[in-house]
Amino acid sequence: MAVTSLVALPARAAGAHSKDPSNLTELRKEAEKSAKELEEATRALEKRRASIATSEKELKTKLDGLHQAELRLQQMRQPVSEMAELLYQQPVGADGVASFLAGDANQDTLRSMANVTQIVRDRQYAVEQTATLARDTQRLASEAQELRADNLLAEAQMSAEIDTLRRRSDKVVKSLTAALVKLGIKIDKVGTAALKCNPLRIATANSYPNGLIPSSMLCPLQQRGHSLRADAAIAFVSLNEAYRRRFGRQICVTDAYRSLAAQQSVYYRRPGFAAVPGRSNHGLGLAVDLCGGVERFRSVEFVWMEQNAKRYGWFHPDWAYSSPFEPWHWEYDPKIDSIL
Ligand SMILES: [Zn+2]
Repeated sequence: MAVTSLVALPARAAGAHSKDPSNLTELRKEAEKSAKELEEATRALEKRRASIATSEKELKTKLDGLHQAELRLQQMRQPVSEMAELLYQQPVGADGVASFLAGDANQDTLRSMANVTQIVRDRQYAVEQTATLARDTQRLASEAQELRADNLLAEAQMSAEIDTLRRRSDKVVKSLTAALVKLGIKIDKVGTAALKCNPLRIATANSYPNGLIPSSMLCPLQQRGHSLRADAAIAFVSLNEAYRRRFGRQICVTDAYRSLAAQQSVYYRRPGFAAVPGRSNHGLGLAVDLCGGVERFRSVEFVWMEQNAKRYGWFHPDWAYSSPFEPWHWEYDPKIDSIL
């Protein structure tokens, strides 16, 4: 294939995203740029999602507070009405006060006077408390409303941003794919047999952007329809053989190499959870998603893989144990000590 020189890149119009890249180097740059944008946007998305979650929690606290305040308000109003009733039923007349002033107040009058003083003080206190509580309730209610409106707005903005990202990324993928086809590379053609895989393809595969490795540069697995980078494929065939000896069947594969378009469709089903398109190890032909038991954490198959896969350069990455939890996801690292 004809690859134009690095320095002879055509001048690009400002902001011309749709311009077809004309060689592999430029293709990689374009793909890299698009992946970087998506990565940044995803980070922003995650931050936004976290802040909305915090805000929702705050809203819940406020609503709980509001409920508590309303309950207390109800309780406060109760004694005030009871006290009013009590005062009405036990009026302290001029007689009582007069005899008190004259120094011949009897026990009952004194007790009655003391009760009145206490009742008046209690009532005053209750009235003040009620007013404060009523103010608090009103403040909490309006804060909660504001918070809810803010959150709704943030959610709407977020989904609009995801739409924009999707459109932009679609455009880049289309233009990159078209450019590859123009360069004479067939993307969808699957190669022949796994064991005929030539490890020299690794270097060639590495010169392609993530998710845009032509199938002729990858090696097919024994599992139909799946392929990986040459070294990963060869190691997987050996791992598969060991697995077959132990379980009497081949490793079940859901997904191996994933094109950029396929990465996109996974990403947009769960933005912020799946790897950003152009960043996934599936796009390098260095990751597999497994089934047949391995996908269940701590199953016999999973544990066997944990104990044996490393001998073949395959491992379960640390992140996949928790965020996101993906027991089915395994990766190949040529640096891991291999018995091959
Ligand atoms: Zn995966």
